[in-house]
Amino acid sequence: MAGDKTQQIVTIDGPSGGGKSTVSRALAAKLHFTYLDTGAMYRAVAFCCQQKGVDPADDIRLGALLATFRLELLPPDPGEDDVRVLINGQEVGSQLRTPEMGMLASRVSALPLVRQALTRLQREIGANGRIVAEGRDTGTVVFPGAAWKFFLDASPEVRARRRAIQLRSKGEQVDEQQLLSQIIQRDRNDRERSIAPLKAAAEALTIDSTGLSAEEVVGLMCDRILATPC
Ligand code: C5P
Repeated sequence: MAGDKTQQIVTIDGPSGGGKSTVSRALAAKLHFTYLDTGAMYRAVAFCCQQKGVDPADDIRLGALLATFRLELLPPDPGEDDVRVLINGQEVGSQLRTPEMGMLASRVSALPLVRQALTRLQREIGANGRIVAEGRDTGTVVFPGAAWKFFLDASPEVRARRRAIQLRSKGEQVDEQQLLSQIIQRDRNDRERSIAPLKAAAEALTIDSTGLSAEEVVGLMCDRILATPC
């Protein structure tokens, strides 16, 4: 059972666009740990609901979908940033990473059936430790026994700007104001839901990345990890 002992696990939680993905990937590479993108898992469930026309509020159909839901996360292709996601053997590409899929993921992530299924899967993946898990509840709920916990934050404006730059670099057209409202709305959903809300674990080190580069954030995290060996 997760939480019984200190695990060689790093958790990085925080709101969307705070730089978690870049930092988590870089830290995992530095430590030779596996990177676990839990947000991709919630996006995958959202995508699957959309594809199959399942209303997430319909418990029966959602339960049936989850019962046959097979998810594989593979390392990114060379030169790419995002982990590869296979749902029931089929690879899903950039459709998973749109702001709209983020909103739908935020909706499905408030549902107990979805959280139970994905939390179980995340714990299986992390059972042997040596992972950097990124998400909203990885330090509070999924891996309460993780040795190193971080909470990465930044102002909503900075987060919207970063997300816009990221999406534009992928050739997408972006309305930054709309992105900002989606970020604020998603934060509110994630912070106010009753199960596993977005919040810093009591023992997490909170880092405000507003004026910091990804390298500086990774440096701060490495300092903390070195100072508190597992
Ligand atoms: O991190 P990302 O933007 O890909 O996450 C998409 C959504 O998935 C979040 O807005 C949140 O609602 C949900 N999520 C979650 N718990 C996690 C990771 C993501 O609820 N551990």
